[in-house]
This record gives sequence, structure tokens and C-alpha cells, in this order.
Amino acid sequence: MYDILDIALAPSGRDKIDWVRDNMPLLRSLEAEFSETRPFEGIRLALSIHLEAKTAYLCKVLLAGGAEMYVTGSNPLSTQDDVVAALAECGVNIFAKYGVSAEEYHAHLRRVIEVSPQIIIDDGGDLVNLIHSEYPQLLERVIGGCEETTTGIIRLHAMEAAGALRFPMIAVNDADCKHLFDNRYGTGQSVWDGINRTTNLIVAGKKVVVAGYGWCGKGVAMRAKGLGAQVIVTEIDPVKALEAYMDGFSVMPMDEAAAIGDFFVTVTGCCDVITGRHFEKMKDGAILCNAGHFNVEVDVETLAEMAVGQKTRRKNIVGYLLPDGRRINVLAEGRLVNLAAGDGHPAEIMDMSFAIQAVSALYLVQHNRDKSMQPGVYSVPRELDREIAMRKLRFTGLAIDTLTEKQKAYIGSYEL
Ligand code: NAD
Ligand code: SAH
Repeated sequence: MYDILDIALAPSGRDKIDWVRDNMPLLRSLEAEFSETRPFEGIRLALSIHLEAKTAYLCKVLLAGGAEMYVTGSNPLSTQDDVVAALAECGVNIFAKYGVSAEEYHAHLRRVIEVSPQIIIDDGGDLVNLIHSEYPQLLERVIGGCEETTTGIIRLHAMEAAGALRFPMIAVNDADCKHLFDNRYGTGQSVWDGINRTTNLIVAGKKVVVAGYGWCGKGVAMRAKGLGAQVIVTEIDPVKALEAYMDGFSVMPMDEAAAIGDFFVTVTGCCDVITGRHFEKMKDGAILCNAGHFNVEVDVETLAEMAVGQKTRRKNIVGYLLPDGRRINVLAEGRLVNLAAGDGHPAEIMDMSFAIQAVSALYLVQHNRDKSMQPGVYSVPRELDREIAMRKLRFTGLAIDTLTEKQKAYIGSYEL
């Protein structure tokens, strides 16, 4: 079953998947294990994550483990049609096309929910929200799910607090092997990759405003500094603001930064971070983009209303002409710039994130047998997180020390 652009695109998609597979040793090791043990045999697994090559390889690993895969994207602009075709060709049920309308996007989410999935792998909560709000009759058959991103987990905690969450969800993002690497180094690199390939402008010497100094913001600011920019951070959290200051960045409210910045990157998970009163102050030629969940951080709607004209200036850049003659440029419609105008995080990073996804899905299936997991939000078990870290170290060719019995006793004692 599939609803895709064109199955004839599969060869190019296959090449992309082969390339990332070579650089994802954790997933390769899990693929080998799952092919032997087939832990997902007979399990219907619904997945909604950005459909590019690394996600495709995760799908293939789960398929090798026996899962019946039902897959859609998690953002209309991050779907790559050739990768989707390659997955359709190898037996994944897939419903996704690049650039679909909001209606088609939701119709595709429905297709994967209507099969009555037992495991849900979600990225931002679209599938979990949909099944709870529109398909309550299917909730009972769900064993559980795994959530990929920060914003999705915030929403799950809100559902749990309201007593609305009806199955166990594992907070994959909160695992050390996920957010310390994916959110920080992954976003740090892929955001600049997206901006650079889209604008082809110099970053050195420019003023870069990073909104939000969480794990993603730290990475984006760190890499902007490495490219030679002067970095300004905006925050709402006093501790994060101090951290940014002591990391060597300027800190100020967006109302001040708006007039100064050449590039703006939002990574907050919040709405209206850059809005009408900020556009009023910006320099001619300012470049705005977002890397946080959902296209609400930069208020593009208000910008379009303020503008007297708009024009696509390069692929993925729309310039808005304001009445006083200033032009403000928005990348990738204010959607995640690293995925909508790039290929997302590098393979070696998604190797870790998706290994955590795969072992978390396995954990849910194993614990379904003894019914030990009640509805709620669960952390990835510490031993799984450490096991993935140990394997990644090994595959990277690194070794670490091991505590001796004497050292263990020393750090575990309270006597002087
Ligand atoms: P985080 O919670 O670690 O950090 C978010 C930061 O933004 C916090 O420090 C918070 O105080 C700050 N903030 C909130 N509202 C703000 C506002 N109005 N102005 C300024 N600062 C504000 O979260 P994170 O892990 O860094 O993730 C940030 C967002 O990026 C989330 O939506 C997450 O889902 C998404 N994300 C995107 C990618 C990607 O590939 N683009 C990767 C991982 C996470
Ligand atoms: N539907 C939301 C999704 C938030 S995406 C939206 O479009 O706004 C944020 C997640 O994308 C991160 O947690 C990260 O793990 C994931 N991501 C980053 N690069 C990726 C890649 N190359 N392939 C798949 N997922 C990726």
C-alpha cells in the first residue's frame, strides 16, 4: 500500500539510503540482531518522522525485525520523494509526498492510524494526538509509543497531567544519547548547513541572533561562533541566559536584537518569538529562519500582511518587501530550516537517535508481555542509554577506563 509521488524515483532513494547505512553502525548492528530474533514479528508499527534517508534506514531495520511498517512524514517540506519510493519498493506501507497541502498531510497521518497500530513512533505528537482525539476506539490496541522531540514530550507530559494519555510513551528525546548529541551537535551543524546551502552568503563577521539557549540553541550558537559570527542570544529563562553570557555570547531581549541581527535562528518550541514589532525594526536584507518545532516561531503570517510584495528570491528563500523599502528574507517558510532546506542531521548523529528509538520500541514490545507498563510518560532505561553509548564508542574506535573494585568502593563510601 502506498500513496507516493513516483515509484520510478526509487533508484536514487536507494543510493541515498545505502550512503547513510554505511555511516550508521549502531543501526547496522541492530539490523543484524533483529533479523535473527524478529522481535517485531506481526506487530503493526506506525511511524511519522522526517522522511529522508536516515529515517528510511530506521524503517528498514524495524522491517528486518518483522514489523509491518506504516509510515508517513512529519513535515510536508522534509519528505524526499525518491527515498519514499525506495521504501515503498521494499515493502513499507508509505503515504507521503514532498510539498503536500495541510489537508493531504493530515490525510496521510490518518492512513497510518487507520490500520490500528500497536506501536507508534512519533515526532512532535501528530500521531499520538490524532489517535487520542479522533480514533479513541483504537487506543486499547496500542502497546505504546516513542516520542522523538522536545516539544512532543512537553505535550505528552501535559496529556499525562490531564489524565488524557491512554498508553505508555517513551521519551526518546530525553535520553542522553539523543538530546546531548542530536539536539546540540546535530542541530548545530545541520542548521548552518541548511542556511549556507540556501543563502550562499558569508557568516563570518555577521551578527547572528539565536532565540532559545536550550540544547538546540547551544549547538546553533556554538557553530555560528565557529563560523566567525558575533552571536546574540535571546532567552526567557534567567539560568539559560546566564549560561549563554558566560559561554561568551551577548544576551538581550528580541526587541533589542531585532534591530541588530543579520541572521535570526529561532529554536525555542514557542510561538511568536519574532513577530510584527520585531519586523518593524529589522535591517534591510535580514535573514530569518526557524529550527524549532513547527512554523509558528517566526510569525510569517503577520510579515506577509505587513508586506506590500513578496518574491521567491532563490529556492527556499522568500523576500518580503515592506512599505518603507526594506526586504526581509524568510527561509523554508519558517519551517525547520535544517530539514526543509537541507537533509537534516548527519547520519552519525541520527544513528544514535534512531538506535534509541529502535531499542525503546523493542522495550515496549518486551514489556507488553508482562503488562508492567501503565499509561504514562517513561524515560529510556538508563542501561539502554549506556549500552548505546558503549556501542557507539566502540564503533568510533574509542575506549574508556573501567573502575577497579577499590575505586568503586572509594566513590561509593561516605567515610573520609
Ligand atoms: P530546550 O527546552 O532545551 O530549549 C528551548 C529553550 O528556548 C529554553 O531554554 C527556553 O527557555 C527557551 N525559550 C522558550 N520560549 C522562548 C522565547 N519566547 N524566547 C526565547 N527563548 C525561549 O529545547 P531544545 O531541545 O533545544 O528544542 C528546541 C525546539 O527545537 C523544540 O521545539 C524541539 O522539538 C526542536 N528540535 C528541533 C530539531 C531540529 O532538527 N531542527 C532537533 C531537536 C529539537
Ligand atoms: N513535525 C515537527 C517535527 C519536529 S522535528 C516539525 O516539522 O516542526 C525535530 C526532530 O527532527 C528532532 O528531534 C530530530 O531528532 C529530528 N531530525 C533531525 N534531523 C533528522 C534527520 N536527518 N532525519 C530524521 N529526523 C531528523
